[in-house]
Amino acid sequence: MEAIWTLGSPPSGQFSPLSGQTRSDVVIIGAGITGLTTALSLAESGMHVTVLEAHTVGAGCTGGSTGNLYSTLAKGLAPVRKKWSDEVLRDVVASRSQAIDSIEATVSRFGIDCGFHRRPLYRLVAQGKESMRDALEEERQAMLAAGLTVQEAESNALPVPIITGVKLENQAQFNPLAYVRGLARELVHLGVTIHEHSAVRDVDYKRGVVETEAGAVEAEHIVHATHTPKGINLLQSVMLPSREYGVSARLKPDSAYPQGTFWVLDDFHSLRSYHHDGDDYLMVIGEKHKVGEGEVDDVYPRRLRDYLSDNFDVQDFTHAWSAQQYSPADELPYIGRWHGRDKVYLATGFAADGLVWGALAGAILGDLILGRDNRWHERFDARRFTPVKSAKQWAKENVSVATHFVPGYLSVSKLESLDDVAPGQGKVATLEGEKVAIYRDDDGKVSVLSAVCPHMKCLVHWNDIESTWDCSCHGSRFDTQGEVIEGPSYHPLARRTKDS
Ligand SMILES: Cc1cc2nc3c(=O)[nH]c(=O)nc-3n(C[C@H](O)[C@H](O)[C@H](O)COP(=O)(O)OP(=O)(O)OC[C@H]3O[C@@H](n4cnc5c(N)ncnc54)[C@H](O)[C@@H]3O)c2cc1C
Repeated sequence: MEAIWTLGSPPSGQFSPLSGQTRSDVVIIGAGITGLTTALSLAESGMHVTVLEAHTVGAGCTGGSTGNLYSTLAKGLAPVRKKWSDEVLRDVVASRSQAIDSIEATVSRFGIDCGFHRRPLYRLVAQGKESMRDALEEERQAMLAAGLTVQEAESNALPVPIITGVKLENQAQFNPLAYVRGLARELVHLGVTIHEHSAVRDVDYKRGVVETEAGAVEAEHIVHATHTPKGINLLQSVMLPSREYGVSARLKPDSAYPQGTFWVLDDFHSLRSYHHDGDDYLMVIGEKHKVGEGEVDDVYPRRLRDYLSDNFDVQDFTHAWSAQQYSPADELPYIGRWHGRDKVYLATGFAADGLVWGALAGAILGDLILGRDNRWHERFDARRFTPVKSAKQWAKENVSVATHFVPGYLSVSKLESLDDVAPGQGKVATLEGEKVAIYRDDDGKVSVLSAVCPHMKCLVHWNDIESTWDCSCHGSRFDTQGEVIEGPSYHPLARRTKDS
């Protein structure tokens, strides 16, 4: 599954892996929008920064996102208003508008070719969803309270049947992968050292040393720009990890491609167009589910393809992909210092709005490290304690986590023989008294791994759509050989003897 953004992005593989020991003022783990924006802010002030990326620049959620930049939130501002206040609403919108402006300024300063355009954003109620009228009205009031200028959406904004909607002008879109890869190239000119294929396996906080398989970086400041912090962190117990899918298509000749960000409340589909090298594409994102709890087969991408075919004149489908998000418990992201560690920083809880939160986080973390004031830090402080605002999700998350811990997990079958696992299939089973994750590839070769997630000892689940092992508890994901794809785990699934 590959996202559309490789069309129009510089190729990956520009940076060599870390090898040997080195020193830096700051080490940033993760080269998505958060890590690279933080690096920019520090490099401009003369700090020496090393960025360690497990895969390639932008290969995380940044390169799997939709590339929309907006001052509101996908879930809406109304939930923030309910939990917080109009003052917080105004801060959310003002800080996000500032972050979008800063992305635009970076694009123009370095001439990054990433298709940045100002575009309107629509929030539309689909026909048949009359019950969502009230929610839209509540959202309109929240937008107004936040200081946004809200217009009525045109009734023909999309060919999808719509009953009502609102429109915000002057939001934006870009190719997120092209942006971060272009930014990475410029950072090198500013003295930043970037290493790809350099997964951090451990951090010794006492000595300030970040270790990969082949090397180590010693630094005064350590930034976890890894979407969710690596290792064990309190915030993981209140965030909800979920996956969402995207597909893109070309339409038949002379079809119109809608220009803007379109959120259709039908339950939720996000649509936008993309122009590259003389061709137009239309994409739809949706079908969200909790990590590790998805359906089997091609069901989610298929539903999205059906959605496009039902509403547009599709000529052919070009890409399909998925990405992960971490929703915060109290509707706001967590940006700042790690609990109990003053020179360790993190930025997480971005939900589906983190291109903008990531750009904002880069500015906040840069200022914290440089000892400068930042007007937004207190509002989004990662150390804030909001038990009342967070309680509902905390309870929901922890009931869910409890059902996936090894001793309490009931639905593991006992496997009589490895032949019970078909080619291309994975299965969690009890084999010789141990919970194992068994995968048989299309050539019949079997790999047997421990099914226990190294992060916090939950059981992984087979993800039939992406052929991965996914942990529902905190979102760690592993490939069929057990290597970490994403999530908080530093370590791969342990290998067990092969019997193929
Ligand atoms: C389907 C979908 C669509 C979205 N669309 C939008 C959108 O249109 N607009 C918007 O604002 N937001 C959107 N988001 C959210 C947004 O994409 C993310 O919040 C944002 O990209 C997060 O950026 P990041 O840099 O913090 O994380 P990432 O981009 O995930 O970067 C983290 C990096 O850390 C690396 N890493 C992890 N572990 C290690 C390790 N051990 N060692 C070294 N490196 C490591 C990863 O490989 C990765 O490259 C969307 C999310 C989803 C799921």
